[in-house]
Order: sequence, then structure tokens, then C-alpha cells
Amino acid sequence: MRESWHERFAETPDVLKNAQRQHTIVPVLDLEIGGGEFIVMAGPCAVETEAQLMATARHVRRGGARILRGGAFKPRSSPYAFQGLGLEGLKLLARARQETGLAIVTEVMSEDDVPMVAEYADILQIGSRNMENYSLLETAARSGRPVLLKRGMMATVADMLRSAQMVLDNGNPNVILCERGIRTFETATRNTFDVAAIALLKQISHLPVIADPSHAAGHRELVPALARIAVTAGADGLIVEVHPDPDKAWSDGEQSLDFDGFDEMMASLDPYLALRRQETAVRDRAVRLCEAAGARVMEAVG
Ligand code: PEP
Ligand code: MN
Repeated sequence: MRESWHERFAETPDVLKNAQRQHTIVPVLDLEIGGGEFIVMAGPCAVETEAQLMATARHVRRGGARILRGGAFKPRSSPYAFQGLGLEGLKLLARARQETGLAIVTEVMSEDDVPMVAEYADILQIGSRNMENYSLLETAARSGRPVLLKRGMMATVADMLRSAQMVLDNGNPNVILCERGIRTFETATRNTFDVAAIALLKQISHLPVIADPSHAAGHRELVPALARIAVTAGADGLIVEVHPDPDKAWSDGEQSLDFDGFDEMMASLDPYLALRRQETAVRDRAVRLCEAAGARVMEAVG
């Protein structure tokens, strides 16, 4: 990592790569986020009904997802929009985990709710609107659960790293960064997917990075392309919205994939993931050869 990046992000030293720490692997049930496997988190924007959640959980699991997403507490732009099922939603998520084995990621919006959400969820999601809510971050960090930190829609990379540093400072090393698009002058897409931020974060930080093509795009037909771009930019996984009947979804239907759309997206990722595995294998082999050559030189001179 170049020295100039160290200088630029000097405020948040613990999230940057260093000699001791190149990669953080976040353990979640039997999974590793930031390890070798590309982790797909999928599910509805909001938990609506038992039938909706269970059907989605079963489908995305068959399609290769490892983690079920779904909001029980929803941050909505309008106070009159559906705000989530709350505790009932958390219970449905736990039931889906029990039936499918999928781990659960769900948003926590207030400090008061942290103990309850942490009891049911495997990963606490901090939403964009709360990325700089430091008291929420502190309480979430202290719950001991891994934290999925979504980038604020007006936040710079430095702002996001500051929030990640805050979680680390509160004794929780298990932070997952999430690029979900930022506000720009463009309005055709819901947000602007900042793919350079993914590449940059993978270069400078040891924390895993996942991409949210759904909130970045805002339109389901764009989601698979953004997902493929995320793979090539080096993301460790995806969080993607899937609904049995997106046009009837209570929130974010426009950007939610239906079941066939999810399967098509997953299939379209395969060649990109295969290419990445090949590259990693070649790199690992080169490192091993260099190490062996180094050892021989030391033997010869020593
Ligand atoms: C969500 O994941 O449904 C959500 C509300 O995301 P964001 O906080 O990125 O808007
Ligand atoms: Mn959503």
C-alpha cells in the first residue's frame, strides 16, 4: 500500500492494512466473510409475511446464497410508509434460519433495539442513514455481533472508515464495509454505484467489502450488471434484494429481483468468479515460488 494512502487516511489507522494485518476474516456461524468464498446475502428489503420470507429464504439458499437479509425495522423516507414488523419480523427471520441454515443480517436503527436485534440476528446492519450515528455504532459494536456498515449516501470513503474505526475502537474487530451507492447529480439510477470505492477499500483496508447493487441501481434490470462489476472490482460478496413478487413488495419492489432474476444473476456471476479464483491461484503460486527461491538463496549464502 502506497504511503500517500496512509497519510490520507491517517485518522483511521486500525482499518488500514499493515504488516501484521492484511485481511480480516469475519466469522458468521459456519461462514467466513472476507475468506476465499464469495458470500451472497439475499432476501427481501423488508420482512412482510411468513410465507414471503420462507419462500424467499428457501429459494435463495438453493441458488447459492449463504446469508438471508430482510429488514424488521425499516428506515423509510416517508413516516406513512411501512416501518417494518419489528420483533415479529425478527422472530420470522430466526425461524427462517432454523429451517434453512442461512445466517441472518438485519438492520438495527436505534440503540434501544440493539440487545433485541442482537439476540435474533447474526450480523447487525447499520443503514446508510445511520452510518454516522456514533452512539448507535458504539452500542452495536459492544453487542459483540459482526457489524455490516453501509456507506452513508453522502459519505466519503474517509467518513465510512471513521465509522469503521469507531466500531474497532469499541472492541469489535468484525466489521464488514458495504458500498451501496452515493448521491450524485444523476437521477436515472437511484444512487451512483461507486465502484472505485470498492477497489480502493480492497487496496487500503483489511476489512471485508461487500456490494449492494440493489440500492445502488434502484432498478432490478441493472442489478446483475452491477453485481458482476462488484466481483471484478474485488468485492468479497453481495447483499441483494429478492422478492417472490417484486411488484407487490411493501418496499423497494422496483429494485428487487424475482426468483428467476436471482437465479440468472447468480449464473451470470460464475465466469467472473472462476476468473478470480484462477487469478488468486496464480498469485498464490507466484508467492510460494518466490518464498522457495528466497529460502534457497539464504541457504546458499548462509
Ligand atoms: C436496506 O438494506 O433495505 C436499506 C434500507 O439500505 P440503505 O441503508 O443502504 O438505504
Ligand atoms: Mn431496501
